[in-house]
Amino acid sequence: MSSTDPKALLPDSLAARVSTLTIKEGRAIAIVDAAGLGQQERDDIERAITDILGQREEVSETRVVMTAERTQRRIIAVGSGKGGVGKSTLTANLAIAMARRRRKVGLVDADIYGPSQPVILGNQGSKPVARDKKLEPVDSPVGIPVLSMGHLVEPGRALAWRGPMAGNALAQLIDAHWGDVDTLLVDLPPGTGDVQLTMLQRYKPMGAVLVSTPQDLALIDAARAGQLFDQAGVPVIGLVENMAGYACPHCGEVSDPFGRGGVETAAGRLDLPFLGRIPLDLAIREGSDRGQPPACGEDALAAPFHDIAAKVDAWIRAQG
Ligand code: ADP
Repeated sequence: MSSTDPKALLPDSLAARVSTLTIKEGRAIAIVDAAGLGQQERDDIERAITDILGQREEVSETRVVMTAERTQRRIIAVGSGKGGVGKSTLTANLAIAMARRRRKVGLVDADIYGPSQPVILGNQGSKPVARDKKLEPVDSPVGIPVLSMGHLVEPGRALAWRGPMAGNALAQLIDAHWGDVDTLLVDLPPGTGDVQLTMLQRYKPMGAVLVSTPQDLALIDAARAGQLFDQAGVPVIGLVENMAGYACPHCGEVSDPFGRGGVETAAGRLDLPFLGRIPLDLAIREGSDRGQPPACGEDALAAPFHDIAAKVDAWIRAQG
């Protein structure tokens, strides 16, 4: 261990349990491999780490993430560094494209601060019912069962949720009657907040897809989100560039309002696979608003989503 590794702040017995510890801008995140540990042991470890780091001047907040054993149903998380980059759009289209590849796909809209899947998948206003204290996913006209915070609370109501409340909301959506669904795509909120930490803690995803626009700032944030997955032992399947190249509907000239190729370059720099590029196209937004995501079709607009789905599919198969 190098002398600059923050793990050196912990006694050896504790450090041995911690797979990574980072301290950035006053926030310490310790990732603990909790497989096989009982609740008491988990609590003891969490308390010991929080106590020790709490005494450090440079630490104002400590989060301990206990990574769990993977569950049977595979979970693919879709994340981004910031909002508005098209993460929900990609998740919905990826779900449709993967279902076409004969996977039994379900979608969890865990973006509790801005749930948009009911609109994109065209089942706004549907209400999931509970059976044996667990929710039943709701069907959507595009054939993907979905559970979204947007189905459960009024728009804007979940905005103030933090910590346990956000985590419990996620648990309700994931621990539902998913039946024969074998692949659950989870549309995460942007960034690296409470929902992400609960996700890693309770439901270790098989892998994560990250979405970014080509601008530097969005990319830096996406890289940070990627780092969190990486630390928790969740492989980043790859990066997707969204809103690349705008084809003018009048003259057809292609311009690059957010730059072009930045995500592919960043993927190379971060040593991550690049999964593909989705153009900025008014028809994508219009289709999403109408509950008709482009991946339902066969045209040029559907193609990038199907290409990305093929790569994710191949990645899953390669995991055995
Ligand atoms: P996020 O989930 O990252 O917050 P959304 O998927 O909700 O982002 O997308 C934000 C807005 O941008 C939505 O109105 C969506 O329809 C639109 N949008 C997303 N991707 C594209 C694209 N490639 N071309 C045009 N509009 C897009």
